[in-house]
Amino acid sequence: MDTKQTVHITEDDERFHLAFEHAGIGIAVQDTDAENSCWLHVNRKLCGILGYSREELLKISVLDLLPRSGQDRNSLLEYYKQLLEKKQPHTARECRYIHKNGQIIWGRLTLSLANRRGRDSASIISIVEDITEQKKLELQVMYLAHYDNLTGLPNRAMFNERLNQTLALSKRNGWTTAVLFLGLDHFKFIADTRGHAVGDALLREITGRISASLRTEDMRARFGNDEFAIILANVGTAQDAAKVAQKLLEAVARPVVVSKEEMFLSASIGITLHPADGTDTDTLISNADVAMMRAKEQDKNSYQFYTAKMNARASEKLQLANQLHRALENDEFILHYQPKIALATGMVAGVEALLRWQRPGIGLTPPSEFIPLLEDTGLIGLVTDWIILTACRQAAAWRDAGLSDIRVAVNLSPRQFQKADAAQHLLTIVESSEVDPDLLEMEITESLLMRDPMDAARIVTALRTAGIHIALDDFGTGYSSLSYLSHFPMTSIKIDRSFIFDVIKNAQNAAITRTIIGLAHNLGMIAVAEGVETQEQVAFLTTHQCDQIQGYFFSKPLSAEDCGKFISATNRS
Ligand code: C2E
Ligand code: CA
Ligand code: CA
Repeated sequence: MDTKQTVHITEDDERFHLAFEHAGIGIAVQDTDAENSCWLHVNRKLCGILGYSREELLKISVLDLLPRSGQDRNSLLEYYKQLLEKKQPHTARECRYIHKNGQIIWGRLTLSLANRRGRDSASIISIVEDITEQKKLELQVMYLAHYDNLTGLPNRAMFNERLNQTLALSKRNGWTTAVLFLGLDHFKFIADTRGHAVGDALLREITGRISASLRTEDMRARFGNDEFAIILANVGTAQDAAKVAQKLLEAVARPVVVSKEEMFLSASIGITLHPADGTDTDTLISNADVAMMRAKEQDKNSYQFYTAKMNARASEKLQLANQLHRALENDEFILHYQPKIALATGMVAGVEALLRWQRPGIGLTPPSEFIPLLEDTGLIGLVTDWIILTACRQAAAWRDAGLSDIRVAVNLSPRQFQKADAAQHLLTIVESSEVDPDLLEMEITESLLMRDPMDAARIVTALRTAGIHIALDDFGTGYSSLSYLSHFPMTSIKIDRSFIFDVIKNAQNAAITRTIIGLAHNLGMIAVAEGVETQEQVAFLTTHQCDQIQGYFFSKPLSAEDCGKFISATNRS
């Protein structure tokens, strides 16, 4: 009987031993009074997890398997203590070990007590699950959720968290804290034209410069594509925040070389101060954003402090944008037409169509007040389609009324040239109006041409080939090189009114005006002077053989009806 039982127990033992040894989880046994010392038994899995042979592992103190920081050791000792006091199994804890190869292993450790029959002392069983992979993923997710992949900067979520903490500290300590919102000027344009790899390289370079301009403890984050935000905790005065903003502007403005090309960037910065401009994260950030937009509008490469007035402006703008959406549907846009007089004959050679908005309850609104907003909201595309169609129909109407050869000019916004099928799109509208393209002129500015000269040249050539006339508007104010002009099949150049304005008194502007007229003629183009208001200006322009004149001297922009009358009166005589 005895022997039978012994055999039985031994078989059980063996089975348990096998289960222990081959368990898919790390298991170790140690004495309760030996928390500082070594494990007494370890299974194969645990050896694998920690990278040691069984013999090696049994000689190492358990605490020596932990990272050197006191934190891990204290946490484990605390766990042992709780176990021994409560004498019951405990919920698992995360615990870090050092693998034999020096790498950190994350384990999920469960300790339990096993009382051995017939003995006073119990054993401590450690169950160790290797969760290193899981932990790595977790950290990666944490990283992705809080950092921007491209620049390695914290993202918006992390920024908000930090700003919250900083504001709590600021309140307690009576600090002034500043939030800076930095947007790169024209960045989208650069990324679109130079490719996104160049855009990314620029962003990394700018990130480095921003960091170099700040103290290590100043929180910085990437918010959107080309937007960054910065917290200056306990900054002192507004003046100190301005100094940092200035430093940042200078850092961004230094030339950047990417793929051997030297590029120039600039930034606009909005600044809000806690507690003056807001006491919570959302208000401070959105007010800094509003101030940044203001800086962009006024003068790029500058900073602006937030003022309460700006918010009023921003909401006014939003309202205006909503009204503009409706304006197109409700036929609130109209065109006025300003005659252009041919100096050689004194007759009206053409007119320029100028957009007006009949705002309900407000009246006729000039384009300077809403065209930038049409451009910002992307509505300009639809509105320009309408302008072209209306202008073409007007040209046809005047032709049908017997007013011969009145060419109608429309102004194109840069947006029109940014579409892939820009030329085709414009031509389709012209064709649908069934007017002879020779009666249509499109005015474009130098800056529109210079954004992407190759592309612009293709579009302009396509329009010109179809018979449409092309005028270069506001000439002299942009930065195009004159040599470029010959690449574009333009039909006329309009001398900007800032030169005509004091052409009589200002010798330099007189020289510029003469030169532009000469240049136009050399390139086989017509020279048109804008903003002509006086008899003296007309005389000067006549002497220097300017071809056409546009300005209040002859006529202000007129309604279609009045303009028709003006043309028939002028061209009859
Ligand atoms: P712009 O193309 O240079 O148009 C000429 C502007 O000069 C017009 O102002 C016109 O009223 C004004 N002007 C004409 N003669 C004189 C003069 O003798 N003295 C002075 N001081 N000004 C004169 P407006 O109509 O307010 O248009 C301003 C600008 O708005 C235009 O400048 C153009 O850039 C833009 N714009 C106007 N209509 C349209 C349009 O239909 N589409 C687009 N994209 N832009 C437009
Ligand atoms: Ca124009
Ligand atoms: Ca002009």
